[in-house]
Amino acid sequence: MPTTLLTGSASGIGAACRAALQAQGHHVIGVDLKNADICGDLSTTAGRQAIVAQALELTQGKLDGLVLCAGLGAQVNPPSKAVSVNYFGVVDLLDGLLPSLQKGSQSAAVVVSSVASTQLPWDKNPLAEALAAGDEARAGAIVDGAGERGGNLAYAGSKNAVTVAVRQRAKAWGQAGVRLNTVAPGAVETPLLQASLKDPRYAEAIKNFVAPLGRRADPAEIAATVAFLMGGQASFVHGTQLFVDGGMDAMVRPTQF
Ligand code: NAD
Repeated sequence: MPTTLLTGSASGIGAACRAALQAQGHHVIGVDLKNADICGDLSTTAGRQAIVAQALELTQGKLDGLVLCAGLGAQVNPPSKAVSVNYFGVVDLLDGLLPSLQKGSQSAAVVVSSVASTQLPWDKNPLAEALAAGDEARAGAIVDGAGERGGNLAYAGSKNAVTVAVRQRAKAWGQAGVRLNTVAPGAVETPLLQASLKDPRYAEAIKNFVAPLGRRADPAEIAATVAFLMGGQASFVHGTQLFVDGGMDAMVRPTQF
């Protein structure tokens, strides 16, 4: 039975991923702020180190799967917290757990990014330099000092950077024998989306963000894609970003892929 660590397991897409992975026979170790096998805070360096240490202890240093789903939306205050969870909460766990995944069997990892990862391309991402340097304080200061734009910048900038971070690891992870991909959901009916809809700064934009399929996704539809990427049927899928967005990316950027 594969053992898979899953962040954000208590709610929304993460909770749906837990169910989908369990249905595929995975032993899932959930990580979240509360209601999880490992309760911890991905927004701080100490919290991330404690989560990695507990994961190593629980698994005796051997993991077959890693799904990094925990994330915060644009409405969060201060916006730097979204950068810490969405970016550092991913790269620190990827790097901290690669040795364990190398010891696993047919190991794979999936990061839940977002269709928002394409809003700010890397060469126009104001967070790119600070994040590439691992400078959490500098990236946080940029978004916290950006006024009204801070929330969007934190979300789109961190999601762009996390997709880039995955792609930049494709060579090393492939050579290490561990597949690594991202999924990029569009709008999904979850507590995160509901919280953004309640914020007057974002409500209108979200209501107008209608995919060609004409509806929002159910979390189970994202989880099914994550489960596919984690399984043997995706054995040659590596370093890619799979959009699960009802056609949104194709509609907005038909000539770029
Ligand atoms: P959600 O709020 O339902 O779930 C997010 C989970 O992450 C929660 O259980 C929360 O407690 C956990 N989390 C947040 N901060 C944490 C921290 N500091 N430490 C540990 N855990 C923490 O949201 P969701 O919509 O299911 O989002 C899951 C992922 O999907 C996120 O990365 C989000 O950016 C991404 N996403 C969501 C949508 C959408 O429309 N809902 C669209 C694109 C991408």
